[in-house]
Amino acid sequence: MVARVTLEIALRKEFDYLIPSELEGCVEVGTRVKVPFGRREVLGCVTSLAEHSDHDSLKSITKIIGTQSLVTPRVLELARWIAEYYCCAPETALKSVLPDAVRKEQQGWRERLFVRLLPGGEGMVNLTKRQAEVYHVIEENRSIALQELLKITGTTAATVRKLEDRGVIEIAPQISERDPYANEEIIPTRPLELNSEQSVALDEVNKNSGEFFLLHGVTGSGKTEVYLQAIAHVLEQGKGAIVLVPEISLTPQTVERFKARFSTGPLKTLVAVLHSHLSVGERHDEWHKIRQGRARIVIGARSAIFAPVEHLGLIIVDEEHEHSYKQEEAPRYHARDVAVVRGQRESATVVLGSATPSMESYHNAKRGRYRLLELPNRADDKQMPLVRVQDMRTEKSKGDKGPPIFSQRLKEAIRDRLEQGEQTILFLNRRGFATSMQCPECGFVAECPNCSMSLTYHRREQFLRCHVCGHNVPAPKYCPQEKCGSPEIRFHGLGTEKVEDVLRKLFPNANVTRMDSDALKRKDDFRRILGDFRRGKIDILVGTQMIAKGLHFPRVTLVGIVYADTGLHLADFRAGERTFQLLTQVAGRAGRGEVEGEVVVQTFSPVHPAIQFARRHDYEGYFEAEMEFREQLYYPPFTRAAMLTLRGRSEEKVSFSADYLKKQIEPIVETITDLQVSGPAPAPLLRAETFYRYQLMLRTGRMSELSRCLAAVTSGLNLPDEVALTIDIDPVNLL
Ligand code: ADP
Ligand code: ZN
Ligand code: ZN
Repeated sequence: MVARVTLEIALRKEFDYLIPSELEGCVEVGTRVKVPFGRREVLGCVTSLAEHSDHDSLKSITKIIGTQSLVTPRVLELARWIAEYYCCAPETALKSVLPDAVRKEQQGWRERLFVRLLPGGEGMVNLTKRQAEVYHVIEENRSIALQELLKITGTTAATVRKLEDRGVIEIAPQISERDPYANEEIIPTRPLELNSEQSVALDEVNKNSGEFFLLHGVTGSGKTEVYLQAIAHVLEQGKGAIVLVPEISLTPQTVERFKARFSTGPLKTLVAVLHSHLSVGERHDEWHKIRQGRARIVIGARSAIFAPVEHLGLIIVDEEHEHSYKQEEAPRYHARDVAVVRGQRESATVVLGSATPSMESYHNAKRGRYRLLELPNRADDKQMPLVRVQDMRTEKSKGDKGPPIFSQRLKEAIRDRLEQGEQTILFLNRRGFATSMQCPECGFVAECPNCSMSLTYHRREQFLRCHVCGHNVPAPKYCPQEKCGSPEIRFHGLGTEKVEDVLRKLFPNANVTRMDSDALKRKDDFRRILGDFRRGKIDILVGTQMIAKGLHFPRVTLVGIVYADTGLHLADFRAGERTFQLLTQVAGRAGRGEVEGEVVVQTFSPVHPAIQFARRHDYEGYFEAEMEFREQLYYPPFTRAAMLTLRGRSEEKVSFSADYLKKQIEPIVETITDLQVSGPAPAPLLRAETFYRYQLMLRTGRMSELSRCLAAVTSGLNLPDEVALTIDIDPVNLL
């Protein structure tokens, strides 16, 4: 037998190897192997098996790594699809479906010493008092880790060894599973009585197995309960489920909702969690739990879509509109789209859920590719919060200081909540104190030396920082221009740090806490702050999108959006859609408890459709308006886009290469007649991390075909050494 193997060293090729007789029957598709390559040995993965090879004098597989193939053959096929559709090398795609933690040659299980009583030993005969105590603890536990035994009994390893010498006990290494949630106490929950809207949705999902659904439910409509019961349904049929959640929403709170329903007591391993904060060891163990079928529900971020679940019955993509589902490095796959492809190939039901579906998914629902399920009301009969739009153009400020940070209305609303003992969330999608530093004397603006971007002032740390590349310099006290040196430095544009600062001055008795990536210093800060907020220790929580999603606090009755325009005017055709989504999500944090909620949106563009439709909680209205714009300009979802970006340190070479690339692409138009090529043009953020970037945008309704053509064209491309090309199919980030 012959095995075809992709090697981990990047070669964009597969190689044939003989399966030696002693390994016959042990090698299957997905098996990890070590093979000779040139004068060394390298790791690889078997992608197919054959009786014969066209090549002669084949070398043999040296050995098998691990006892079981780590991916299912189905997932391996998915990797191949990714390589083709997203135009990347097969081994790059393979790297994504197989996390590093399980790819290593050594077996990654943690072995610890365990102590247990030996049957037929002498038992308690002639033990000292101390030994007898230790004996009893072991007896109670049946088997206990040596370290733990020493801790409980306060004894030394020597004492325990004496028991071993007498043949009473055995000390032996055993695999011990790392459970990242080992210390959490989880209280089991039971299915909720579904209200009628939820029941209709659930019935549809359960009745139509293998179909695709878009679950459009307002925030708080109880989508999660629908997910939970749909999962219960597939478990009953002996199948498994994958639940994708954006990394940022993969909080202990979210995980707990799934564990509490399915994974308590003897079923502790039924739910596996995969996300980027797991240690390598934890990731390894979670992965193997899934592969061995002991975990049948996987909840995780983007890459969990590749979890080796066999007999997959259901894939859920929560917050399907989230851009973090797109991987911003090769392979540049979109986990939601991969979910649909995987569902199709494994006949699994796919449920995409969101309060603000992406234009792409809603469009698919409208034209019948997905079944649309609607949950238009909150599960607990609470009203949607009242949203007031505050026109900041009319806000008067004192002196010449420009518009104030807080409108009169928002200030009063906050004061009111403080008096009532209720909580407020204030949202601003920008970190730091000020977004730029300028000298009024000479006009100097502090810019990043590596990017075409002004530096953000972080006052507490007294640093200027680039939010693109992380460049960090101490904030100057005087204008750094040699001939100027003026002490009159001014700061413009506001960030969360400033909002926090101003709030403290306005409401000195309130407990104000900020939550953004600057404020989170230690691993458990996120959890701690949310805990404090839930317990009512914090009156006002200021934050970035970190607090916009999925969080549920009954005592929050006011949400203020300090400046709704931050993302509205970006050079991205999705700028409006993103703002609409963000406003709706943030507004959804208000009024989740007994008291009705209110939202104040401060903006300088009060009549923008994204703001007006969000104010009225009118998704459908926004969709219709936005689709008109997309259709006119031939943007997705009317078409699909591919972004080709050239980058390099010499702007001239980059620009020249972009023109050359365009010429190479021209012949494709003869094959793909609806192809539109825009550019080349400098990227909106021309320079990032010292690289200049030029872009070409291609649009077509026949993307699979275009991917194939692009792979052919780019393999023969002759670019200067210092210029690199990236191909991003279905891009979500155009900057
Ligand atoms: P979504 O995911 O749509 O934002 P959640 O699933 O978080 O909504 O539900 C919001 C709240 O409503 C939660 O506290 C949940 O426990 C509650 N809930 C959901 N379904 C029901 C139901 N059928 N009856 C009562 N409460 C429900
Ligand atoms: Zn100056
Ligand atoms: Zn920078």
